[in-house]
Amino acid sequence: MSAWRPLGPGATVGVLGGGQLARMMALEARRLGLRVLVLDPDPRCGAAQVADGLVLGHFSDAEAACRLAAQVDVVTLDTEHVPAEVLRAVEAVAPCAPGSEALSLIQDRLAQRRLLHALRLPQTRWAEVNDLESLRAGLAEVGLPAVLKTRRGGYDGKGQVRVQREDQLVAAWETLGRSPCVIEAYVPFDREVSAVMARGADGAVRHWPLAENDHRRHILHTTLTPARAEATLGPRARALAEAVAARLEHIGVLCLELFLLSDGQLLVNEIAPRVHNSGHTSLGASVTSQFEQHLRAVCGLPLGDTRQPRPAVMLNLLGDLWADGPPPLERVFALPHAKLHLYGKDEPRPGRKVGHVLLLGDDPAGLLREAEALHRALGGR
Ligand code: AMP
Repeated sequence: MSAWRPLGPGATVGVLGGGQLARMMALEARRLGLRVLVLDPDPRCGAAQVADGLVLGHFSDAEAACRLAAQVDVVTLDTEHVPAEVLRAVEAVAPCAPGSEALSLIQDRLAQRRLLHALRLPQTRWAEVNDLESLRAGLAEVGLPAVLKTRRGGYDGKGQVRVQREDQLVAAWETLGRSPCVIEAYVPFDREVSAVMARGADGAVRHWPLAENDHRRHILHTTLTPARAEATLGPRARALAEAVAARLEHIGVLCLELFLLSDGQLLVNEIAPRVHNSGHTSLGASVTSQFEQHLRAVCGLPLGDTRQPRPAVMLNLLGDLWADGPPPLERVFALPHAKLHLYGKDEPRPGRKVGHVLLLGDDPAGLLREAEALHRALGGR
């Protein structure tokens, strides 16, 4: 990575996957004078609407990904689900961040758990599941209640099932197609928080304030930054994230999702080696957004200031709000301190992230109340 050469305005960044993360990256790239080329099978995907160009193809298509790589200065990702072998092929054509080695670790929950163990970072009890025998032995090891998760492909609660009683165990595994899994002890957390940071090509790091996350049906609902526990937990959470980023020799933004227990313990739930939904408040509330920072990092440029002058809350807008036609978005515009972000999705299906609202203010609890009231006003339940 020492050969990482700085790229400036006029350089082209390739992004594998054209969802909302790639879209917000492309919008920031345009402001910086960088060009963005996106790989996606949908010519109307959110990122293609704002990028300089599109290569038609899925991120699992190595030939299409290499065609994109041949036209750019550096390649990055919109999702960690890009197969590691595709990224390996792309690396032969252009520099990639994150790289295939880090990605192959992250996209396997078992490898992630082992990595956290090797780094001696705190996590819930877990065991590997490959067959009925290891399934039963795993449950005996972690205890009830437990959560069974597929090793690959899970996100937003997909690919995971809660096990409350022993007689639900086999059925739970069957709903996951009897695929290789990790079984984890269910964590009775007080709160979920995340540490979002960036690491540059030279190893420099910058952290945003700790994020406090509220999930509904396994999908992020609101994020408050700084978290109310920032002063007590921020330094510890940042040290955990930094240890992971250093071990992965990560270049770019990385998010560590954490559970906070009532006794003050922090347990690592998951590593996301990319810009993250819980980092969205940085776009509008921080001096440098996570999208600009990611571009700075993958372009080998110095990292920007991550300070956030005022508290902020992000409210996710899911497709459910569009079930009976567009929600009354004039309710967002009626709030002078609210910023609406829509991702350009043609089909706002239930459970899909269609946009978010950023609320800026001075009173964290008041902002969270306001986000709830706005969600209800938009038809949310
Ligand atoms: P994940 O896909 O692992 O990020 O899980 C999505 C969400 O499910 C998390 O943000 C938690 O709200 C919940 N969850 C996942 N694993 C556990 C666990 N071991 N104990 C309690 N809740 C969990």
